[in-house]
Amino acid sequence: MSGPSIRRVSDWNADGLAALAAEHDTPLYVQDLDRVRENCERLRGAFPDADVRYAVKAHTGQAVLRAVREAGLDAECASAGELDRALAAGFGGDRLHYTAVNPPARDLDYVGGVAEAEPALTVTVGAVDTFDRLAERGYDGRVCVRVNPGVGAGHHEKVRTGGAAKFGIPSDRAAAVAREATERFDVVGIHAHAGSGIDPEQLDSHREMVARMGDLVRELTDPDGDDAVPLDLEYVDVGGGFGVPYEEDEPPLDLSAVAAATREAVAPLPAGVDLAIEPGRYVVADAGVLLTRVNTVKQTPEERVVGVDAGMTDLLRPAMYDAYHPILNLGGAADALSPDERQATPVTVAGPICETGDTLCRNRALADPARGDLLAVGIAGAYGYEMASQYNSRPRPAEVALDDGTATVVRRRETLADLTTVEREAETPAGPTGGDR
Ligand SMILES: *Cc1c(COP(=O)(O)O)cnc(C)c1O
Repeated sequence: MSGPSIRRVSDWNADGLAALAAEHDTPLYVQDLDRVRENCERLRGAFPDADVRYAVKAHTGQAVLRAVREAGLDAECASAGELDRALAAGFGGDRLHYTAVNPPARDLDYVGGVAEAEPALTVTVGAVDTFDRLAERGYDGRVCVRVNPGVGAGHHEKVRTGGAAKFGIPSDRAAAVAREATERFDVVGIHAHAGSGIDPEQLDSHREMVARMGDLVRELTDPDGDDAVPLDLEYVDVGGGFGVPYEEDEPPLDLSAVAAATREAVAPLPAGVDLAIEPGRYVVADAGVLLTRVNTVKQTPEERVVGVDAGMTDLLRPAMYDAYHPILNLGGAADALSPDERQATPVTVAGPICETGDTLCRNRALADPARGDLLAVGIAGAYGYEMASQYNSRPRPAEVALDDGTATVVRRRETLADLTTVEREAETPAGPTGGDR
């Protein structure tokens, strides 16, 4: 069952969400593993011959990682911490891809250790320095060369990586760097990730990036090329960035059209070279909602402000990227009409953080919220809990996973005591967890 191409916030079972909020309190993340599985299946169906790697940074919860592994996707990890989580979720080395971006020494040391036990692991490298630092640690295993394709795509300037010098080896240097790397490593692939948010309008820049990668893979593997030995590459990875329609009237991505455009742009692939993709958001975004309770309603001359218990520390995307998240009033206030019977009223939904940017929406028409109502913030499963922080000394929210209808708390709500753990342990180094692990 691969399900519909988008699950809107209004498609969730409102009574079920209200019951979860009543039982577990708010703010509360709810992540539906059945929907995660459907998204995995739709991706695998649209890209049947491709290696599909889940970019775990979108949502690293163990339950999600296990579901994704069972659905047959590999894991793309951006840090030692993400690798550690993927290993814990049962991914073997042959399904682990570590993408090093200015990797701290501690991360490289950790990866070196993992690679000894799991030599099928692949390290994706975006700077010559990183190759040198891997070699210094005695690493001579599988590597993939990350190319900066010079083309960016993305829903916001801050997530466009393709053109940003921070990521990857400049495309005019990539072939030479890949050839040099074969002297010290097993070079198995080339990679590019142009950014987040491939949508129907940005398909052209995606196509252009993929076509450049196709050219590069043919150049590197060409048995008749001028440049001595052809490389024995296994794959060309064209990254993630598959967009999700956050706005209610936005059409979902036509995955089969993206797949067709991708295959066409990369063709012809040399024999033995597979296409790989790395979706993060697409796998988990519409599988999650954030539930938050209204605690304040304030009419000002300019706007009607609805204060809620979730803010930018729970869901950072609106404050950081001006991101739109759909919001549905599920009602529940004492003595209030059901939301269907209330007047649609423009409101600004604001969180509890002392920052002007701490709003979930501004002047948006919602079924007029009253104190005690529950609001569902939709499409919150990707980069939601992952970007949560304790700013303003706010404990992070709880998360519940739904699996075939059964709800389980998978991340407990943090407590005030959690906020000071690292300070207390610094005072007593051999404290509760013992030592420096
Ligand atoms: C973040 C990231 C992805 C996934 O991006 P999405 O927009 O979530 O699909 C894939 N590859 C790399 C290297 C990334 O950093």
